[in-house]
Amino acid sequence: LSLFSTLPPIPADEPFSVNGAYLSDTHPQKVNLGIGVYRTSTGNPWPLNVVEEAESRIYDARNKDRHEYLSIQGDREFLNLASDLVFGFDSTTSPQIRDRVTSVQTVSGTGANRLGAELLSRHIRPKTVWIPNPTWANHHTIWDLAGVPEKSYPYYDAQKKKFNYIGTMESLSKAQKNDVVILHACAHNPTGADPTPTQWESIARLCAERGLIPFFDLAYQGFASGDAAQDAWAIRHFFGLELEFCVAQSFSKNFGLYGQRVGALHVVSFPSLDKNTAAGGVGGDILANLCHLVRGEYSMAPRGGAEIVRTVLGDAELRGRWYEDLGVMSTRIQDMRRALYGELVRLGTPGSWEHVLDQVCSALILRDIVS
Ligand code: PMP
Repeated sequence: LSLFSTLPPIPADEPFSVNGAYLSDTHPQKVNLGIGVYRTSTGNPWPLNVVEEAESRIYDARNKDRHEYLSIQGDREFLNLASDLVFGFDSTTSPQIRDRVTSVQTVSGTGANRLGAELLSRHIRPKTVWIPNPTWANHHTIWDLAGVPEKSYPYYDAQKKKFNYIGTMESLSKAQKNDVVILHACAHNPTGADPTPTQWESIARLCAERGLIPFFDLAYQGFASGDAAQDAWAIRHFFGLELEFCVAQSFSKNFGLYGQRVGALHVVSFPSLDKNTAAGGVGGDILANLCHLVRGEYSMAPRGGAEIVRTVLGDAELRGRWYEDLGVMSTRIQDMRRALYGELVRLGTPGSWEHVLDQVCSALILRDIVS
């Protein structure tokens, strides 16, 4: 008998298995409700115009270093631009404020979630991670693998098809000091229902009062509303309150760089402990611990996709063109929702469908219609 015959059976990952079923289906009108990726009106992937421009500039430059190792932390210029995008920092931001954020390049948003979970579980030892119900299924896997027991909070009011503010506040008021709270920064996956700014303010107050550790998953910045600042509003609010928290940032959707695995983990401390922006990148203990975890897993994140993002965000003209591309994607998504809503109403489909217009980027509406 093989040594491995005792391995436990593992259920198939839902989005990836739906995707496999989609690919092998020959029906001419098949619709893919699996992995959340942007598609054009002909059903094809869309490499962003600005990404193609950055790729050709990178190729033309033929920098001799282009296949060298990065540092364990990752590409520092990319990380500075990535944290500017999340926290709204600019040339007027003081080093004291910037130093509250310690950033490490990760294997996209998934890797950032995992690295943050690993850091917290080993060193802060939360008793519980509070995960919204429902959520992106990988949150369960990631925190299970990190060995932190989970509890869920009732995120979604399925009747009203809205964020369940009262249920969330009731549950989280039972959380204990240093418990982790998973929050989707915008475009909650899979419901598309987000808290209002006033509700975010109360969640932030509750986290501060109870000493909870917010953990923002930021997978759709700019992709949700078309406005990168608006989609980071909650994070910037928590930062302004001087809370300590994590942000798992993904560039998969907003740059269309899904398979390139571009992301960052930002750990926000208060008061600031780190000097990770100092010359030479000599960091404090947060950075050293993150790098230690990265080194033992995969040494450093891949460099190709991060180079594209750095090229775009580091150039005013290309950044402007990125905003235009974000506008193309978010407008098309909103137009599709309006068209779907119009058709449901035109056909006299039983039920009310206003949430199709209200919710942001959600897959749940399609599942509602199919089921
Ligand atoms: N978090 C959420 C909520 C997501 O929806 C996704 C992508 N579906 C991710 C994280 C991570 O994606 P990636 O690893 O491609 O950045």
